Amino acid sequence: MAELKFSNLTKRFDGIPALDGIDATIGSGEFVALLGPSGCGKTTLLRLTAGFEQPDEGEIHLGGDTVAGASRFVPPEAREIGIVFQSYALWPHKSVSGNVSYPLEVRRIPRKEREARVAEALELTGLRDFADRMPSQLSGGQRQRVALARCLVFEPRAVLLDEPLANLDLALRSSMQDVFSMFHRRTGATMLYVTHDQSEALALADRVAVMEAGRIRQFAAPEVLYREPADCFVAGFVGDGAVVPARLTGRSAPGRVLLSVLGQEVWCRSATATPSHVSIRPEAITLSDDAKLRSRITGCTYLGGRFRLVLDAGGEALVAFAHRRAAIGETVGVSIADPWAFCDPDADT
Ligand code: ADP
Ligand code: MG
Repeated sequence: MAELKFSNLTKRFDGIPALDGIDATIGSGEFVALLGPSGCGKTTLLRLTAGFEQPDEGEIHLGGDTVAGASRFVPPEAREIGIVFQSYALWPHKSVSGNVSYPLEVRRIPRKEREARVAEALELTGLRDFADRMPSQLSGGQRQRVALARCLVFEPRAVLLDEPLANLDLALRSSMQDVFSMFHRRTGATMLYVTHDQSEALALADRVAVMEAGRIRQFAAPEVLYREPADCFVAGFVGDGAVVPARLTGRSAPGRVLLSVLGQEVWCRSATATPSHVSIRPEAITLSDDAKLRSRITGCTYLGGRFRLVLDAGGEALVAFAHRRAAIGETVGVSIADPWAFCDPDADT
């Protein structure tokens, strides 16, 4: 397994950047999710890493080797990278074991060793009893396991996965997430996992790179993205809650600033002395009758175990959790504890 490093990686299509100066390092054995809306450049980053496209600027390093750059381009088959696509891309005329064995045949691994490694890969992905089936006889989840087994069997230096669960239904998606986690723990593979589904990224990855318009907005552990988003885009795209403009009052303490938020003075966690916005997660909100900030309940949905309330507080939509169903239109008091404040000069307020 190898470290994967992008430096100033840039790719344009018809002059328009799909990737705009990507700098990031994925540690050896790390599981990183690339999270962002459709069209932000996730697949392009994987295709460049795999060697299906050449960068316009910048470099890709894999395990200390430069595999793409101004004066060097290693072809895909020489990069030793495993790829799992949303569409599975299995050979339809080969059995499960034939599909999994194929990368070893290409590499001229002797039959004995091939059989042992195929058996191990099928075991690891829970496919032992399906070795002789044809892809057409498998469910979507089973096909995706075959694709995973086929890419891990040759012990690639890194594994790239492009929305591998997008074609599966919700229940299967969450059980396949467990398969990916187990696969990562057992193999220690360096994994780069593309998804537009924030809950999938938060659930699976050691760190998440949040992308927008060809750039990485924030690259951090899931808890950090949730608790300390870097800007309005990350705060809105990752996790539930509200993003609200804030005004400085002039008072601060180490790691904290006192801000005017929705007309109330609120102490906020912050890494900057001049924040412009606060991220208010549902957990930060307590409903109480005597709170000064009044809000109107505009939505109430049951999440199983608790309710999600949408509140209109002076024209801003806040999100809170409650244990009881609430009546739409009712007025409640809101107190906000310990939100995260950040500076986003680009946000239109
Ligand atoms: P994502 O996977 O995040 O949805 P993509 O990497 O597929 O995004 O695309 C990023 C941008 O680059 C999009 O605007 C897309 O239309 C454009 N793009 C991707 N591949 C090509 C291509 N081969 N030719 C022209 N434009 C492309
Ligand atoms: Mg894509």
